[in-house]
This record gives sequence, C-alpha cells and structure tokens, in this order.
Amino acid sequence: MNLDSIGKVGVVGAGTMGNGIAQVCAASGYDVVMRDIEEEFVENGLEAIDDSLSRFVSKDRLSAEDVKGVKNRITGTTDLTDLADCDLVIEAAVEKMGIKRDIFADLEDVTDENAVLATNTSTLSITTIANATEREDRVIGLHFMNPVPIMEGVEVVVGEKTGDETVELAHAFAEDLGKTTWESDDKPGFVTNRILMPWINEGIRAFDEGVASKEDIDAGMELGTNVPMGPLTLADHIGLDICLDASETLSEELGDRYKPAYLLKRKVEAGDLGKKTGTGFYEYK
Ligand code: NAD
Repeated sequence: MNLDSIGKVGVVGAGTMGNGIAQVCAASGYDVVMRDIEEEFVENGLEAIDDSLSRFVSKDRLSAEDVKGVKNRITGTTDLTDLADCDLVIEAAVEKMGIKRDIFADLEDVTDENAVLATNTSTLSITTIANATEREDRVIGLHFMNPVPIMEGVEVVVGEKTGDETVELAHAFAEDLGKTTWESDDKPGFVTNRILMPWINEGIRAFDEGVASKEDIDAGMELGTNVPMGPLTLADHIGLDICLDASETLSEELGDRYKPAYLLKRKVEAGDLGKKTGTGFYEYK
C-alpha cells in the first residue's frame, strides 16, 4: 500500500474540520466525496469551501482556474454508500465515541477491505474506534489542525493495532497535502490536546474568576508568550462544544486536573459555541 493506491478520498462530516480536509485533499489533486447527515450541512460545508477558496484568490495564492479544478473534484452527499470506492476515508464527525464507532462499523461495510480508515478525533482512543471494525491494522488518527487550509501540522496517531504500512501511508499522504507531520502514541489527547486543553480551561477560569478581562487574558498570552491567539479566542475558533467534549474525555482518562471549566459548560448549554454560531466569548459577524 503506497500513496499511488490513493485516488479517491472520503470525508465524513462537512463541519469546520471536514470541509477544510475536503478542500486541502482536492487542492492536492485527489477526488473527494464529503458526506454529512443532512443536505443543509453538506451545503454549508461546500459554501465554507467556496469562501475559503475565494480568500486564497484574493490573496493571489490561487487562480480562478485552480478554484474551478478544486471545486470540480469535490462531491457532497448524504449517502454513505457514495464513499464505496474511496481508498482512504477521513472521519471528522462530532467528538463522541459512540457516533465514531458506528461510523467506522458502517465504513467497514461500505468500503473495500483494503481502504484505510482515518479519524480526525481530538482526544478519543484510536484503538477503541478501530475495534469497531475487523481491519484494525488499517485504522489510524490523522489529526488535522484548524483551520485546515492554513495550518501546516498534522498529528499522526498510532493505535495499538495500527499497522506499520498504515503509519507510513498516513505520513506520506499528509506530506503530499503539503503538511508536516509528527507522531503520537494513542494516549488521551495525544501531544497537542493533552497540553492545549488545560491551557484553554485555565484561560476560561481566569476570566470567570475576574483575573482580567477576556481581551487582557488573550493579550497577556499573545504578547507574553508569543502564541498567535490567546485561550479565549482560540476556544471560539475551535468550537466550545468541541473543547468541552475533549476536556470531558481527558478528565475521564487523566483525572481532575483536566476538568472542563464551569463557564465552558454554561456557554455550551446556552448554545454559544464560538465562531461557528456567531457567539462565544466574543461576537462574530
Ligand atoms: P463540527 O461540529 O463543526 O462538525 C461536525 C459535523 O459532523 C457536523 O456537520 C455534523 O452534522 C456531522 N456529523 C455528525 N454525525 C455524523 C455522521 N454520522 N456522519 C457524517 N457526519 C456527521 O465539528 P468539527 O470542529 O469539524 O470537529 C470534527 C472532528 O474533528 C471532531 O472529532 C473534533 O474533535 C475534531 N477536531 C476539531 C478541531 C477544531 O478545532 N474544531 C481540530 C482538530 C480536530
């Protein structure tokens, strides 16, 4: 199994990550089928890709011809069987173990037995997801960063039963998309979210406890530690529901030091999920 064996890529989930992954795969010449559960979500995903491509054009980083090519290579669908002839499927649905295991079991039925099944999970166990299938050696974590078309890094997460060929292919594929990879063992949160989520939760607690305004907390971290975004802005970009799900998984696995902040839970209960809903810690147009 090598890179040449991958012609068509399936993406499950057309949300923040799914549409970004579909875009970068198509921009690298792969045919892509992007699936969500409702037509409206598929349409929103395709619109987000249009918007993102337009921004690349306005910065002279893509031509109108390139955009046409990328769009032509992406098909949206609500029917999982449309992924039947995909050689690689990348799942980017919601961060819930039950949903991901159901998707992987269905993908096993639908795709060829040689197809590689990857998950973009932020924190969930690759081994547990893989175990919903009979092809655990071909299941791997391909953890893209948000926003996918802009961020260079991809974390390759190796499950207990992931085969060496699958690991090699995952690195080669991500590099073919112009990304740079690093590898993590299948431990809660991997490298990135194990360290990032407590930082975000501490930023939210600092705000809730009145240590400083949200703007000053973000400015303090940006100017004081040279990160491009402070914790509250970054949480809004990730999605507060995704941060909450990730923090809950981490606290179940690693204990109380990973508990989600009280205000994070309240915001999610109120439906204020960050940039994607227009309101989080900040307002978005
Ligand atoms: P999102 O809420 O923006 O999108 C999730 C999409 O999955 C929704 O459109 C939803 O309708 C769809 N979905 C739900 N069940 C489905 C199913 N059975 N089949 C197909 N689609 C289904 O979430 P997101 O931010 O794109 O996150 C997706 C995954 O990527 C999660 O596992 C998350 O942890 C991970 N991730 C997120 C970020 C981030 O910054 N948002 C970064 C890295 C990884």
